[in-house]
Amino acid sequence: MSGFVFGEKPIQIESGEGPYVYDDGGTEYLDMGASYACAPVGHCHPDVVEAVESQASDLLFVQGSYPTETRTALYDRLGDLAPGELDNVWLCNSGTEANEAALKFARHATGREKVVAAKRAFHGRTLGSLAATWKQKYREGFAVPDNVEFVDYGDSEALADAVDDETAAVILEPVQGEGGVHPAPDGYLQAARDACDETGAALVFDEIQTGLGRTGSLWACEQAGVAPDALTVAKGLGSGLPIGATLVADWLAEDSGDHGSTFSGGPVPCAAALATLDVLEDDGLAANAASVGDYLQDQLAELPVRDVRGEGLMVGVEVKRGANRALKSLALNHRILALPAGRTVVRLLPPLTVTESHADRVVDALAEEL
Ligand SMILES: *Cc1c(COP(=O)(O)O)cnc(C)c1O
Repeated sequence: MSGFVFGEKPIQIESGEGPYVYDDGGTEYLDMGASYACAPVGHCHPDVVEAVESQASDLLFVQGSYPTETRTALYDRLGDLAPGELDNVWLCNSGTEANEAALKFARHATGREKVVAAKRAFHGRTLGSLAATWKQKYREGFAVPDNVEFVDYGDSEALADAVDDETAAVILEPVQGEGGVHPAPDGYLQAARDACDETGAALVFDEIQTGLGRTGSLWACEQAGVAPDALTVAKGLGSGLPIGATLVADWLAEDSGDHGSTFSGGPVPCAAALATLDVLEDDGLAANAASVGDYLQDQLAELPVRDVRGEGLMVGVEVKRGANRALKSLALNHRILALPAGRTVVRLLPPLTVTESHADRVVDALAEEL
């Protein structure tokens, strides 16, 4: 499987710094996709690089039976940062694994099997998470388990009807990402909370894309004032090193069954995550995401586009002539990298360090191309 190919020659990225990446010929690109939100503090942040180098020279790996200072520190840190009382932390290596764990924990603790998920949802590509992922193309030919019921995203009544006393979990993205950048309507996440409280199902928020400050607060669910029973995070957590986490409430942690992973909580990804969280907090990047995100969305709304949606620096621009064409011209004519979300949406998930002048550059480029 090849990556995105723009025109004749794929762009071969050799280095990165802050919001920029550089190809093999030294050409600079503004990375408005942050490699799928994996560079929230920018590329190669010196603090993250230093933490990784220093940890790598001390100890590359030791398995989870031996506590390490780095892993313990990350457990504590994520537990402190978690919304509500989700201070039990399970570490893994990717987003899909974080969701697998959340769904396994919920099924074990409730003794139930059924999961309720939303149409357009994306939760990952291993079988458990894939079963809760909507897109047919990702599911075809893989004998995906059919124990997930899908409901229209944003319809509180449909959700309440689907959740019953056989439901182990409801899993939702607070803003759907891959499905086209759709923020939850007001009251929707609370309605999910209520449906779970009434039936004893676990509420799982997949914040793999929305988390870590992207939507303008550390977790997107904070803005709705709703705490789930489990929250998953990955993508930017290790600034691109493979690490994910499932943060869970006591009742799920106490009866979570037997789950494990050799690489869980390895020292190098944990060191990267601790350094990334430090930068996010010290530099106030969630607040920057809120203000630059608002500015960007206001400017984009002036363009001849079908729609502009999102929260903070998670932005979708619905364009008339297809996303791929717009992405190609942004890359080739303006040296700006962005992402698709379906066929018609250009998705912007830049490093949370970007400024209004970076936003202007993207808006001007899109204005020229549309
Ligand atoms: C990317 C993503 C995943 C899957 O993460 P991987 O690390 O690719 O397995 C799951 N959920 C959401 C919302 C995502 O954006």
